[in-house]
Amino acid sequence: MSHPLFYLGAHQPHWLWTVEFPLFVSHRQLARKARLRLATCRKALDSGGFTEISLNGRWVTTPEQYADAVARYTDQAGAFDFIAAQDWMCEPFMVERTGLSVREHQYRTVANYLELRELLPRYGVPARTLMPTVQGWALPEYLYCAELYRSSGVDLAALPRVGLGSVCRRQSTAEIGHIVAALADRGLRLHGFGVKTGGLHRYGHQLASADSMAWSYTARRLPPLPGCTTHRNCANCLIFATRWRNRLLASLTARGQQTELFASTHTGRAA
Ligand SMILES: [Zn+2]
Repeated sequence: MSHPLFYLGAHQPHWLWTVEFPLFVSHRQLARKARLRLATCRKALDSGGFTEISLNGRWVTTPEQYADAVARYTDQAGAFDFIAAQDWMCEPFMVERTGLSVREHQYRTVANYLELRELLPRYGVPARTLMPTVQGWALPEYLYCAELYRSSGVDLAALPRVGLGSVCRRQSTAEIGHIVAALADRGLRLHGFGVKTGGLHRYGHQLASADSMAWSYTARRLPPLPGCTTHRNCANCLIFATRWRNRLLASLTARGQQTELFASTHTGRAA
């Protein structure tokens, strides 16, 4: 068994040119930084849809604005491993927030992928870097969404990465495990958004990659590390995040999930 390529969720853009392990960064955070530097690590980009739809009940950032921003980040920080499209999450409270239906979220998710796939090359970003996300809540809905891509001429199994949406705020890892297995069986190289540690242990071997910001939520509830005298807690602390990551990867390996990542595991230089 192999465990997924793990991208540590980061709030701070400057970690991109501080660490040497893979980071998962959000458009919402990078957009606030006028100028980025060339990254010292692998990285993937989240479109920030959860926050944007939670705040506004819809996407306010247009595909053109997103493509333009992605082009700037790529130009300044270097290419991303993958870039999430502007998908529509299908958690019941998100569907309630927009007043739409799961079906409508799925149509819009696929339509946005098709639009960005046309747009990005015009901004100098290869279409293959763009990652579609399969959205749904129950298993049949995910399969329906995969079928929507297929009927739109998108061969998900031929793509380097396919996002698995609406999994990060669920308690039941067993249910997600069934969904992961069904999609992995169809040959999809999945990225699990915000997968819980328990989920990584359970079905991580069926994911190609995953990201997590769980370290920050954990740190928020704890006193700062002994050496950390400048902050009240370590929710934004690179030292805490690096240690959390190292422990996670060690626990996955201890459970028999091998990783090629270990050969290139570095401790981040704390800022
Ligand atoms: Zn700290």
